[in-house]
This record gives sequence, C-alpha cells and structure tokens, in this order.
Amino acid sequence: LREARIKKTKTVCTYCGVGCSFDVWTKDRKILKVEPNMEAPANQISTCVKGKFGWDFVNSNERIVEPLIRRGDAFYPATWDEALDYIAENLKRIKDENGPDAIAYISSSKTTNEENYLMQKLARSVMFTNNIDNCSRYCQAPATEALRRTMGLGGDTGSITDLSISDLVIIVGANPAEAHPVLSTRLRRAQKKHGQKLIVADLRKNIMAERADIFLRPRQGTDLVWLSGVTKYIIDQGRHDAEFIKNRVTGFEQYVASLEKYTLDYTSEVTGLSKEQLIATAEMIMNAKSVAVCWAMGVTQHLGGSDTSTAICNLLLVTGNAGRPGTGAYPLRGHNNVQGAGDFGCAPAFYPGYQASADKDVLAKYEQVWGTPLPTNPGLNNHQMVDAIHEGRLKAMYLIGEDMAVVDSNANYVQQAFEKLDFFIVQDVFFSKTASFANVILPASPSLEKEGTFTNTERRIQRLYQVLPPLGQSKPDWQIIQMVANRLGANWNYTSPKEIFEEACATTELFAGATYERLEGYKSLQWPVLPDGTDTPHLYLDEFALEGGKARLWPVDWTHPLTLPEEYDLELNNGRLLEHFHEGNLTARVPGINKKVPSSFVEVSPELARERGIVDGTLVRITSPYGRVKLRAVVTDRVHGKQIYIPQLSAKDDETVNMLTSSDHDTITFTPAYKEMRVKMEVL
Ligand code: SF4
Repeated sequence: LREARIKKTKTVCTYCGVGCSFDVWTKDRKILKVEPNMEAPANQISTCVKGKFGWDFVNSNERIVEPLIRRGDAFYPATWDEALDYIAENLKRIKDENGPDAIAYISSSKTTNEENYLMQKLARSVMFTNNIDNCSRYCQAPATEALRRTMGLGGDTGSITDLSISDLVIIVGANPAEAHPVLSTRLRRAQKKHGQKLIVADLRKNIMAERADIFLRPRQGTDLVWLSGVTKYIIDQGRHDAEFIKNRVTGFEQYVASLEKYTLDYTSEVTGLSKEQLIATAEMIMNAKSVAVCWAMGVTQHLGGSDTSTAICNLLLVTGNAGRPGTGAYPLRGHNNVQGAGDFGCAPAFYPGYQASADKDVLAKYEQVWGTPLPTNPGLNNHQMVDAIHEGRLKAMYLIGEDMAVVDSNANYVQQAFEKLDFFIVQDVFFSKTASFANVILPASPSLEKEGTFTNTERRIQRLYQVLPPLGQSKPDWQIIQMVANRLGANWNYTSPKEIFEEACATTELFAGATYERLEGYKSLQWPVLPDGTDTPHLYLDEFALEGGKARLWPVDWTHPLTLPEEYDLELNNGRLLEHFHEGNLTARVPGINKKVPSSFVEVSPELARERGIVDGTLVRITSPYGRVKLRAVVTDRVHGKQIYIPQLSAKDDETVNMLTSSDHDTITFTPAYKEMRVKMEVL
C-alpha cells in the first residue's frame, strides 16, 4: 500500500527556457525528489537548484484555492459560478458600452501552449479583439524581430546541443550561469573537453565572464557599436566568408556601406573598449571554425534592442556562421514557455504559427475553423495597453500568471494604470502585487498540477504530465479559460489539452506533424514539424526562410542610450538571480530558497563604496525620475565604477527594481529599455 502511494511522473521545469525534463517522485502531495533524465535532449546534465528544490510552493498555505471577489478594499471567497457570472456580466457590459477593443488579454509564458492557444482564441473568436499579448514583449521580442529580418523564422537557429560542439561561443548581455544554469554547465564542459573558446560581453563581471577567454565590458548601450566595428574589421581584413555570402546571403554591398563609420577608432571611442580588445575579438572569431552567439536581456532591453540583435545576426552571416551545426543565433528565452506563448498566437499581430492577423487568407481560415467572424482592427501590445488604460481607451483586462505590477518597467505607472481599470481579472497561483488591483482573482494550478506542452528556447515541444491533483478549487488555466469563454457565449467542449493541441496544430504549418503520440514520455519535437513527423533540430541547413531561400544582411545604426539629468550619476543594471525565478512570486514561497536569499540587494563597486562610505549591509536609497527603492548594499567587483546592479527579485514593494525603470522602449517591438537607466544613491 505504501509503495502504491509513491509515484513517478515526468514533467518539464518552469524556471527557464532551457526546458529541462525530469521525473518528480511524490507520495500523496509530498514531493520526495526530482530526478533528472539524462536522455532528455535539453538537459542531459542535471538540474539546477531551482529545478531540483524549487517546487515546495505547490503545497504553500499561501496558494489561492478558491475564486475571490473584491468588495471594497477586501477580497471574499466566491463559488466558481458566482465568479464566472460576475466576470461575464462585467465584460459584456464593457464590450457593449465601449466596443470589443476596450478589453485586453494578457496570457502567460509560464502556462502551456494549449492554454496560450485558448487565451488568444478567447480574445479573438469570443470577444472580437486582437488585444492579446504575453510577456515575451518584455524580453526576447527584439531577438525574434532580428531573426525574422535576417533569416526568416523567429526561433533559435539550432539546438542546445550545438553549443557543446561550437568552436567559439559568444555571450552578449546574458548570464546563463544564473539564468540558464544547465546550459552554462554544458559550455563549461565544452571548454574542458575540446577547448571551446568563450567571449563574454557584459557590463557586469558575471560568472560567465570569469570563465571567458575574452571579457569585453563596453559602455552601457553600446553593444551594436562593437559588434558592427568587429564585423567591419573582419570584412576589411578580407576574412569574411565570401563564398557563403555569394551563395546564401543578399544585401552585402549595401550592408558594407552601412558600416563605414564603425572604424576601430570610432568603435573604441564610443564603447570604451581598446582597439587591441576589438582586434583580439575579431581574430578569435576569424580563427574559429564554428561560432554560436547567445544573447539575452542585456541586449534586447534597450532602445535599440532589435537593431543590436540584428547586428549579432549580421556578424554571423558575414562570417558564414549560420545554417550548419555548431553555429548560429541563440537568443536565450527567459521564461519556460516564452517561445510557445508567441508560437501559439498570443501576440496582437500573429495567429498561431506566426500567421499574420492582418492576412485575409489567415482570417478566412480561422473564421471557418472557429465558425465565427474575426476582428480586423490591429491589437495593442502589453506596453501600449498600459498607455491605453491611462488614456481611458482600455477599460478592462484579463491577465494570467504575470505579476505585471512589478515586472513591467516603470512599475508605478503600471500600478496607477491598474487602479484606473473598470474591471480587472487576475488568474494566478498566488496573491501577487498585480492581484491586489483585481476585481476578481481566479485560482490557477501550477505546472505540476496539469498536463500540456511547453516549447523551450530551442523550439523543442515537450509534454508535461500531471504530478499532483489541483489544490482546493484551483484549476488548470485551460479549464478556467474555457469556463470564462462559455460564460461569455462560446460553446467549447475541450475535455483535454490533447484536443486543444490537435486543433492548434491542424491549422498551423509550423506544427503540422506534431501530435501527443509523437511527444509521448520523453520524446520531443523541434518546430517546424513536417506532416510526417520529421522535426528540425537545425534551421536553414539548405535554405533560409526568406524570399529566394537566402538570408538578408540588414543595415542598422546605433541608437544613443537615454540621457538623463546630471544629478542621476549612476548607471543602473538589473537581472536574474540563480536561486529565484524572476520576481520571486513562486520561489519566494519555497522555504529553503527563501531562507538562502530572502530579499533583494544592490551591488556596489569597491571604488564607489569607498567614495560613499558604503560597506556590506549599508542601507541605501536609490532614486530615479520614476520612483525609489531602499536596499542593502553588497560591495563587489562584479560591478565597476559608477554602475550598480539590482536583481529582479521583488519580494517587497520598496525593493522592486522596476520602481526605477522607465517606459522608454525599443522603437520596433516596444520592449522596455530596462537596462538603460541612471539613478542616484544616498546612504540612509
Ligand atoms: Fe529548470 Fe532552467 Fe534549471 Fe533546467 S536550467 S532545471 S530548466 S531552471
């Protein structure tokens, strides 16, 4: 009997885009252990601290276990019927009074592909609006834009395993040792095993920088300049891959002309890197047989995030490092399913499989499949939604699994917007800062309590199986979305995520051959998946996904970083911690993890600490034009000069780094420029 209560279930980690799969051993609701699976292609190594120990939150007594309705300043338990009636009544009223575009929907890159598919279907087919987005807007949308510009498809060009065989890996503005730990272990092994070279470009001397052969520390917001300067130098030396460019790339002459100003002198002057560093970087690239570039928010969360991402792709194309194993572009996805949320249509401009929402043929297809007319108005992205609330155009929002009140930039402005909403539905596992602004809170089940699929950073679709039953009255998000849709007049009858997945794949060329059977257990598929089930570990082996099958060099120019008044004399940088997932809404509820890192802090350089009389533990107030935070200092040479670093962990209101960041954004994708801010600091 005792044995029968012990169960082993396969799931997929929800703490980063590496997408490690593992078995969870449970006895009733108790998690006994997490057992990594060495056959699972994405990990093959182990799990990191979050994957191994980060799951006790599922039994936290802080879980939301029943629907809650606000009355005055307090929330009261309600039945599902009461909550759904209340939602339907208010959404119908707001739609009737203000039109369908007065309501917006934000899906979650922590929920499954099936749930994302249903959320955009609800917005479009039931509520008649393209106002649907997800948090990839906050992170890798610029990388997706760059890949679509230059190569055609918005996914990593190869597989995580490619990073083990590359001659040289370049990491720009990313810290996989903390944000994608298993991937960083893979790189460390490749360094030891076959002498893989590593170049790291970052403001902060992070763990990867300590392991690098070349560490570049350019001035904040100047990555595009050194990338372009190094590319120009390679071309000037005649060491570009002329054969590859001739056969597989367009736009070379125009691109070369665009590089004219990026001489070594100019590049060195703007970036602060020495000419010797720039030449050594170029030499290492020229001498490598295969080069892969990984990048993350240190690149994308800038005014010119899309253009800097494009400069990375240009460098790869000029040197022939695309379309073969061991090479390519790897924007590292932060959330576990940030790739899948976009893949399955949670973006205003795209239906599932990146089919344009403005394309008449796409609309006609979905009108037939879904049996209803579909909206033609362009939708708002989540950044525009906040402005639209302030302007009175957007009256209601249905938001799933995102603590937008602390993770969006300029958090004060976002919170003020939420206060103005006529009606706000928040669906989450825990009561978050965002939930505190809601009219209705719906209790969602976390990944361990549901089935479905996730898509990791390398376009790999994997199944997760239900480890535990939903706690209390919480439900998997797909069931809740279906209940809301039906209460609003739909007639959906999905009985399992499998049925949703089949419908989604039947209408998208990208996933044509993906089925639950082909994803059984530890099997996985990397899109595009052909109708016969053949998947694609490497994109572009034969041709790129642009007109004529060729890649396209895309000239870009440098956008000067934000300028702020002189009194803001310090540069603010921010990012993830190894122990916590993002803002900490889940991991702060894991006692073991929370005990280790209970609160945020600010990293201060030794020289700045000396100047200001700061030691470890000194309490400081940091102020930007947008807000202020109060944090304890950690003195470390990871940061230098007048740069400071604050983790994204936002366990307490006055520690939330996004109280300091602005609403300025990448000009193409609206991704906030989180990494471009100047602040001042006073000792308390
Ligand atoms: Fe989870 Fe990422 Fe760690 Fe793998 S590397 S166990 S996916 S957090």
